[in-house]
Amino acid sequence: MTPPMIGPGGQARADGLGHGVGASDPVVRVHDLTKDFATTRALDHVALEVPRGQLLVLVGLSGSGKSTLLRHLNGLHLPSRGSVEVLGTDLSTASTRELRSLRRRVGFVFQQFNLVGRSTCLENVLSGALGRVRGPRFGVLSYAKALRREALEHLDRVGLADRAFQRADTLSGGQQQRVAIARTLMQGPELLLADEPVASLDPESSAQVMDVLFRICVEEQLTVVCSLHQVELALGWAHRLVGLRDGQKVLDRDASHLDEAEVMEVYQRVEPGSTSIPRPTAAEREAARAASAIVRSDHSLPLDGPVSAPHR
Ligand code: ADP
Ligand code: MG
Repeated sequence: MTPPMIGPGGQARADGLGHGVGASDPVVRVHDLTKDFATTRALDHVALEVPRGQLLVLVGLSGSGKSTLLRHLNGLHLPSRGSVEVLGTDLSTASTRELRSLRRRVGFVFQQFNLVGRSTCLENVLSGALGRVRGPRFGVLSYAKALRREALEHLDRVGLADRAFQRADTLSGGQQQRVAIARTLMQGPELLLADEPVASLDPESSAQVMDVLFRICVEEQLTVVCSLHQVELALGWAHRLVGLRDGQKVLDRDASHLDEAEVMEVYQRVEPGSTSIPRPTAAEREAARAASAIVRSDHSLPLDGPVSAPHR
């Protein structure tokens, strides 16, 4: 059975592009990927396959190649050598039209949330649908009711339905990142890339954002590839950890069978017994997830009535 997808991204495409991936095929196939920037080798013979519904976390020091790898997965970079296939599209041979089509199916969440601060959360989320509606939109009511309902559902999914009509810049950083995730979901992605999505957040907000990504991944079978600095978060939420060092893949393991000392080796500063990062037990992971669980609300919001930002 085909797993459920979020939004229209999981449905058959009218443009006839990108049908080359079945439910059991890997969403990402990276083969012998090397990327050179002038004299810098950013990625060095990297091989990677990511199955559908997996939350894969990339770890590694700053400059190890995490962002470069993520940017290959939505075609922002092309390989110097090797191949990258995403959702059945070979990025090296794809036409401009195929690349554009693929980018609509791949969501990207950034460290800086890039919301429009003076717009409401709902309007920010709705803007994620701009790739699939014709013409510009001004204000929430310029979107079809079905889209407004869908946007509210995505806000609910990230635990922020009650903030729909609040200005985005009045939210905390963690809440803004959850709105940014809801906006990306509105795009209907089949693959979600997140580049250091919690780097500027406090530990509690970071856990909530990771919880959202984990739940979306597990409940919706959305594939997530996310780079993180925090090893404890990676161990707590990832299905699988991939470690990069100087552009080389030096770790690729199921997170549940991974010792924190092995992860720290990626950073080349392991002294067994001396690390200050504790490895969470299965019970602790469950408790952390429960503590940061987003309570889904049951709001009846006025989709038909006049909708305006309170502060605009
Ligand atoms: P990370 O995300 O792990 O911090 P990056 O992927 O950003 O690492 O960078 C990997 C290496 O590639 C670094 O040495 C970086 O300076 C270099 N690099 C990344 N992007 C570019 C670019 N556009 N031009 C030149 N060098 C780059
Ligand atoms: Mg980076």
